[in-house]
Amino acid sequence: MQISRRGLLKAAGAGVAATSLASMGFGEAEAAVAAHVRPLKLANTTETRNTCPYCSVACGVILYSKGDVRKGDKAEIIHVEGDVDHPTNLGTLCPKGAALKDFIHAPTRLKQPMVRRPGSDRFEPVSWDQALDRIARLMKDDRDANFLGQNEAGLPVNRWTTVGMLAASATTNETAWCTFKVAKGLGIVGFDNQARV
Ligand code: SF4
Repeated sequence: MQISRRGLLKAAGAGVAATSLASMGFGEAEAAVAAHVRPLKLANTTETRNTCPYCSVACGVILYSKGDVRKGDKAEIIHVEGDVDHPTNLGTLCPKGAALKDFIHAPTRLKQPMVRRPGSDRFEPVSWDQALDRIARLMKDDRDANFLGQNEAGLPVNRWTTVGMLAASATTNETAWCTFKVAKGLGIVGFDNQARV
């Protein structure tokens, strides 16, 4: 019989739950019902693989959501757990990753770009297009004004030291490679990611 690693762990988890409940005095019928509560909770949910956003370990997670987006429903994430098929964490999550559902539903979660304009005392939302145009404009102006092509000895150095880039650490190797190429291609010297903040 073929069984996936995740399927095996689910079956094992149900077995352990049933055994534990039986040892606590539940009868076989009650234990069987209790052991099936978790699978029922996740029945008819959509599984979406993702990456924990917190640190550079970049653990794989599975988001379970209710609501059919294709029918116009709003997807509601009801459960998050480690992805046992992910090579980095094999299904485990640290306390931060295990609390991801609260992060997702937090009323203070940042969901779109915000800007605090000169002289203002508050942030206001802007569209992604507005944010990217504004960032590109400021970067171009600053690079034109401060880019250092050569040092005092006339040697090529191609440095841009007046702007820094803070990238995401929870990305794939390929994304990190592309991000690094963009930063270094522009001559940015100050480059880091949020895992070290
Ligand atoms: S689950 Fe913990 S260790 Fe894994 S990426 Fe998230 S914060 Fe880092």
